Amino acid sequence: MTTNGAGWGEGTRAARAGLPEAEPYQPSLPGPVFAAHYHLPGEVADAPYSYGRMGNPAWTALERAIAELESPGDPAEAVVFPSGLAATNAVLLALLRPGQLAVLPADGYQALPRVRRRLETFGVAVRTAPTADDAQGRHLDGARLLWLETPSNPGLDVCDIRRLTRAAHDRGALVAVDNTLATPLGQRPLELGADLSVASGTKALAGHGDVLLGYAVTRRPELAAELRAWRTEVGAILGPMEAWLAHRGLATLHLRVDRQAENALAVARALRERPEVRGLRHPGLPEDPAHAVAAGQMRRFGCVVSFELPDRAVAERFLAALRLVDDATSFGGVRSTAERRGRWGGDPVPEGFVRLSVGVEDPADLVADLRRALDTALGSGAGAAR
Ligand SMILES: *Cc1c(COP(=O)(O)O)cnc(C)c1O
Repeated sequence: MTTNGAGWGEGTRAARAGLPEAEPYQPSLPGPVFAAHYHLPGEVADAPYSYGRMGNPAWTALERAIAELESPGDPAEAVVFPSGLAATNAVLLALLRPGQLAVLPADGYQALPRVRRRLETFGVAVRTAPTADDAQGRHLDGARLLWLETPSNPGLDVCDIRRLTRAAHDRGALVAVDNTLATPLGQRPLELGADLSVASGTKALAGHGDVLLGYAVTRRPELAAELRAWRTEVGAILGPMEAWLAHRGLATLHLRVDRQAENALAVARALRERPEVRGLRHPGLPEDPAHAVAAGQMRRFGCVVSFELPDRAVAERFLAALRLVDDATSFGGVRSTAERRGRWGGDPVPEGFVRLSVGVEDPADLVADLRRALDTALGSGAGAAR
């Protein structure tokens, strides 16, 4: 539990998140501790560290940092996991029982349909509805848990967290929000009423494309205790090096997400001018269908821009022609990436659908690269001179 930094600005909190009190001759962020076991005299019940599956100082520090960012000023507990999906499954499998009902987004992260089948084999009933228009709110009767993902990946639809949380709580259901795309500097679901904020820290939170990580944060100690017990029992734990790397990177989170959101908006504005680009989505664009709701609950609109090119071949030529944007999956990293999302087969998207993750490069360079790659993909020699 921590209430550190309630009065600070977001940048200050990110730079100092989870740091221990200054101690003479100790580093400001202690390095990772590699230990399978710790010296353990006598009784084990009160030991802060006993065996490596149960706890590690690098998790403790990272968990404190994430709780401070997701819930500044109000005590909360974070539980870290080795991936976003490990965190997702911990919440769903540890908090739901056979016979209970979960309401999931129909357009959420591509692994959710498989998670759904797993839940069903354990006797949990599942209903799905789209993120847009708060459609999940129409399926809450009898639900034990409402799982929201906003903005949704990769379609970038947005739902109203406050409104859906009120509706779910009226029916006694818990609410968990997948906060991966926004990061805690973009959106704080716990302040909007949700019981849990869950995320893949692999994306913008860690932000360098070199770490997998997940977490769940809650202000309810009994939920945190369930998740921690689940982690210990299942044994899916984060490595200390990954925990430390992610914590080290939090110091620049505000710089990265600010720059990436600005760049994403610049890129979206440039793509808007191109007639071959259809279905352009970015919640920060004032004309985006999600903008009004997003503006009511987000502080930054994230780094993802999605759009459709005429067909698969054009999209493939476009991706191959980019020099500053790697053809790669995932998102949120400091270096721009993009991919034709349909190649995975899990998302209901057209063949020419591109998910673009905008990094921290100079926006003019990115825009020039995207324009040139579009010209190349369309084979328009005239456009190449733009
Ligand atoms: C990537 C992602 C996940 C899964 O995270 P991993 O770290 O890859 O396990 C879950 N939700 C969303 C929205 C994601 O983008």
